[in-house]
Amino acid sequence: MQGKLELMMGPMRSNKTAELLRRADMRRQYAKQFVLVLKPSDDTKGGPGVVESRNPNGHGKMDAITFNSTNPWEVLQAIRDKEQEIGKRVESIAIDEGQFVDQLFLFTKYLLDAGHDVLVAGLDLDFRALPFGEMLNLTWLVNAYGGSITECMAYCACGARALYSQRLIDGKPAAYDSPIKVPGDSYEPRCADHFVLPGKQH
Ligand SMILES: [Zn+2]
Repeated sequence: MQGKLELMMGPMRSNKTAELLRRADMRRQYAKQFVLVLKPSDDTKGGPGVVESRNPNGHGKMDAITFNSTNPWEVLQAIRDKEQEIGKRVESIAIDEGQFVDQLFLFTKYLLDAGHDVLVAGLDLDFRALPFGEMLNLTWLVNAYGGSITECMAYCACGARALYSQRLIDGKPAAYDSPIKVPGDSYEPRCADHFVLPGKQH
């Protein structure tokens, strides 16, 4: 039987990771499922082997398998090893920071076809307000395999709903063409009126 996909998307500070961990915990506690939590190597928060929410009221942290963002397929062996170890199927697989995972669409589809339920949390847009990785492509899989799409909510300092992740470098709005990795950058959720992107052409 095919699995179903639960997709959790939104900007920075929309509690995506907290929501992912909450659902993983529910499945473990009440559905008695084995939930394998995966973390791509590009995700640096929480350190290796741990998925950690920035929300202090959330589920905190959970042990995770760290894998190379450029090769999610290495996880298949880890799943087989885990199933051997626990003597049953891994029912569910939870992936945090899905926007960083190469071939996310194909990898998720493979897991669903193999009968795993899959939960994916991640950013829908990058700091340029462009689709981030393959997160938005996963909506097709929800349509085809069943499951749900959750738009995680964040709020701008003005109180309006924030759909964008404002990138700041040294406290100032980052330029459209600024490099992806800059020390000292930070992000905050902003509404359309307060999101600014210096140097954006269109
Ligand atoms: Zn605002």
